Amino acid sequence: MADKDTTHFGYQEVATGDKQKKVAEVFHSVASKYDLMNDLMSFGIHRLWKRYTIELSGVRAGNSVLDIAGGTGDLSYAFARRVGPEGQVVLADINESMLKVGRDRLADRGIAGNLETVQANAESLPFDDNRFDVVSIAFGLRNVTHKEKALAEMQRVLKPGGRLLVLEFSKPRNDLLSRAYDFYSFQALPRMGSLVTGDADSYRYLAESIRMHPDQETLKAMMSDAGFERVQYHNLTGGIVALHRGVKP
Ligand code: SAM
Repeated sequence: MADKDTTHFGYQEVATGDKQKKVAEVFHSVASKYDLMNDLMSFGIHRLWKRYTIELSGVRAGNSVLDIAGGTGDLSYAFARRVGPEGQVVLADINESMLKVGRDRLADRGIAGNLETVQANAESLPFDDNRFDVVSIAFGLRNVTHKEKALAEMQRVLKPGGRLLVLEFSKPRNDLLSRAYDFYSFQALPRMGSLVTGDADSYRYLAESIRMHPDQETLKAMMSDAGFERVQYHNLTGGIVALHRGVKP
């Protein structure tokens, strides 16, 4: 299929081939302050969203897990503890700055033996078919240029019966919450980003990219189209975030 000439980067229309580079600039810029900003921006609530993701994954001791766009490794850390020494977790991310923070952080926490870090693009995963019991992507999919391609890749590397968990910002379910959230994201977030990281633009991109991301039902349909079965989603914090889960037949 021919590639479209342009795509969105937040609210900007950019050449399709340029999006990946622009996303890379954002994450190179924020990597060292990423974890601090996550806690500040979400008032720590991202930890609950991630805990719920681990619960819904059904991960067990001995499982093999891919955490794609895993960044600084929150999910990978939790998965590595669950799968234990017989299991394996691959923390994969396209961005070497984010991966470096993740690798150092997990090594400091004593996670090493069952964890591997791999620099990889979600759109072309360097893994064999049918390899993983669980694949997760948290707050990563909206940054990927070709989302359908990435979902197809995630489905390919899962074992039959394996689960995909997509944790991502989504569409708030109620108007009042939506308006308060708009005010917070477009006014407060860039200011907070500027104060803590000196980079307001990356946090403006965050707010814009969230608005451009497919809503709950659209993402559900995209997962079904990619071949997942029993696709369901759970709205978290009033739909500010949604956790989608699908099973490879
Ligand atoms: N999953 C982590 C979390 O929940 O804290 C990190 C999320 S961070 C907002 C998004 C991550 O997606 C970044 O580390 C970025 O480098 C990564 N990313 C963006 N595009 C990607 C792609 N095409 N393939 C793999 N990772 C990508």
